[in-house]
Amino acid sequence: MTATAGQYHWLELSRSAYAANIAFFRRLLGDRARLAVVVKANGYGHGIVETAGLARECGVTQFCVHTIDEAATLRHAGFIEPILLLGPVPIARCGEVPALGVDCVAYNEEHLAALEAAARDAVKTLRVHLKVETGTNRQGVSAERLASFIATLKRSPHLELAAVYSHFANIEDTTNHTYAMRQLDRFNELCDAVKNAGIPAFERHLASSAATILFPKTHFDMVRVGIAQYGLWPSKETYLSYLTANGTGADHSLRPVLSWKTRIAQLKTLHSGEYIGYGCTYQTTRESRIAILPIGYSDGYDRKLSNAGYALVGGKRAPLRGRIAMNLTVLDVTDIPDVRLEDEVVLLGRQGSQEITAETLAELAGTINYEIVSRIASHIPRFVTE
Ligand SMILES: *Cc1c(COP(=O)(O)O)cnc(C)c1O
Repeated sequence: MTATAGQYHWLELSRSAYAANIAFFRRLLGDRARLAVVVKANGYGHGIVETAGLARECGVTQFCVHTIDEAATLRHAGFIEPILLLGPVPIARCGEVPALGVDCVAYNEEHLAALEAAARDAVKTLRVHLKVETGTNRQGVSAERLASFIATLKRSPHLELAAVYSHFANIEDTTNHTYAMRQLDRFNELCDAVKNAGIPAFERHLASSAATILFPKTHFDMVRVGIAQYGLWPSKETYLSYLTANGTGADHSLRPVLSWKTRIAQLKTLHSGEYIGYGCTYQTTRESRIAILPIGYSDGYDRKLSNAGYALVGGKRAPLRGRIAMNLTVLDVTDIPDVRLEDEVVLLGRQGSQEITAETLAELAGTINYEIVSRIASHIPRFVTE
């Protein structure tokens, strides 16, 4: 019995695809900048531990997460590599940071005080990465607050400013990178300001996937690659910008890592004129063979795919009929011969010559590939395949 024989739905992560994506970034970066992989949101739905494991096999030595719980998950799974916590930590939990041995984002003085106290109590030095505001207007410290912030840092003997960083607002959504380049200029100015405030040495990092792929001048000491390590382009615009700059013969060997599979739980035949699912939103127009899938929106299968999406059965596209429910979905397999109970069904990925990409699902559901994968429920088992 194979590992997936007893599963009604599961994810497969391709080791060779992941390695190809990391190799693509190594070619881009050379030995100039470090590659950090962002494994927040349960590794963009791929599984945080599974993804970090694949990254480690490829020699990646720096992880970025969003929450303290994600950092703890990696530590408990035995990852001893440097971790940068990008998201806010509740002040009441700053005391847990020293034992986890993770670097933290620094973005307000209340948190600096809590981290300083935690580090002092633990008799440790904590490394913080100062996030400066360059135009995304979420977490960053503005130019006006910078002097006071640095002064507080200097009065915190148990905190070390490891790096200054920022994040682009408008690099994936457009082929016009004027705003991004303004943010880059702003970033350089703010780094100079930190230096002039009397902090001589710190690292700099700015680039997520799109910037890393498009603009070498954003690489600095480290890049923070999320979506593209999973083989997904940040957007069509990023892909087009890349092809425009590098030519269609360019190295663009990103390969999707994830496949999402389920099995047919039940098969039945309906008469013409019968309804399918909640709200009776679909009525058959002929005698129809339908397949019930044990998957629904509570598994992260987007309800907006109702009556719009399709899945792969027997190497062919089978349309979704009726509404996606919490745990069940219905496919029309009338035109697909020899469909049997418990046949494998592909929701995302390849089957035969057909492929359903995260971009296809995103288009059908009115969202982006990031949301399609990151909302795949964490209870679904993940398997690493070759
Ligand atoms: C999520 C995130 C990234 C990764 O972005 P991608 O577009 O997925 O590469 C990088 N930096 C920060 C601060 C992030 O929050």
